[in-house]
Amino acid sequence: MRYILLNPGPVSLSERVRKAAVSQDLCHREPEFFKLQDRVRSALLEVYGCDPAGWAAVLLGGSGTTALESMLASLLPRDARLLVIENGVYGERISRIADIHGIEHQTLEHPWTDAIDYAKLGPLLAGGSFSHLAAVHHETTTGRLNDIDRLAELCEQHGVELLLDAVSSFGAEAIPFESPALLACAVTANKCLHGIPGMCFVVCRRSALKKAADPPRSLYLHLPLWAEKQDSRTTPFTPPVNAMLALNAALQELALSGGWQGRHAHYSHLAGQVKRVLTRAGVEPLLSPGESSCVLNAYRLPKGKTYELIHDGLKQRGFVIYAGQGSLAAEMFRISTMGDISNYDMERLLAALQAVFSG
Ligand SMILES: *Cc1c(COP(=O)(O)O)cnc(C)c1O
Repeated sequence: MRYILLNPGPVSLSERVRKAAVSQDLCHREPEFFKLQDRVRSALLEVYGCDPAGWAAVLLGGSGTTALESMLASLLPRDARLLVIENGVYGERISRIADIHGIEHQTLEHPWTDAIDYAKLGPLLAGGSFSHLAAVHHETTTGRLNDIDRLAELCEQHGVELLLDAVSSFGAEAIPFESPALLACAVTANKCLHGIPGMCFVVCRRSALKKAADPPRSLYLHLPLWAEKQDSRTTPFTPPVNAMLALNAALQELALSGGWQGRHAHYSHLAGQVKRVLTRAGVEPLLSPGESSCVLNAYRLPKGKTYELIHDGLKQRGFVIYAGQGSLAAEMFRISTMGDISNYDMERLLAALQAVFSG
């Protein structure tokens, strides 16, 4: 049975991307590979129109967390004073990474269901004790899209540099690359970009690579090493060549489907269809309208229905949804509409939701 994945990555692949992944055997020390690497790096910058003179897309092997850890461990100088915003699992992960690498930091904690408290954040940044702010753009824990324009503006005002976990938003949501405060974004291939797992990247200002941690905090995760080698058309370590072949095809598909704006409109349309069916069946969204990303929505489990019942009912019909994380597991479930989902798949999904929730 072919399952349609409605979890927040990995996603259902298009035939083109799936085939591209196994289309050739590539040696990573041959010109064919370097051409592919160049193409993927420039296509990634083109997604948001980042000028290659000032920005670099640095590719590396690993999941989204690898990108996040490499961004924090290498782009925070040794004397950085970091503030971390937490309103979900992924904000807390940033603090955990900082702990492990001995990066001094303070946290602005929120309950997982809350928006960022700007009334608290403003004075904290104005205090002048922080050089860097790390935050999650789309907090996949709840589907909340944190207001990143406002964050970037505050950072600009107070001369603070912004490091962003854009793992589940890059390719589908607006990101303020024009803000001088935005230093870097950590991203993975297998969420909104529709590639296969195994490859991730950091889009960062070239100036940030020059001011990176010295001495390095890690061998593999040190972005300046990857950037220097990739700029000179080589690679420090064996890259995930198949994931790169797939991402190359996926980026071509993204461009053909209207870029991030086209994907934003498409995801919003699909999520709206799901929301209408669920609301009619009495299932309530966790967040108020306007708070969620277009990528993923969280819903409260209706009375009398367990997550297992809903999950299994949908899986029998060919769809995989996602449970809540941690303490939210008993209260909610999540549906993402990323990936290659056809109109026919959507028709079947809406019918399956109706059957499972009204049954
Ligand atoms: C998926 C995700 C990650 C990284 O998860 P991996 O399992 O390491 O790929 C990080 N941040 C956010 C916001 C995510 O959605």
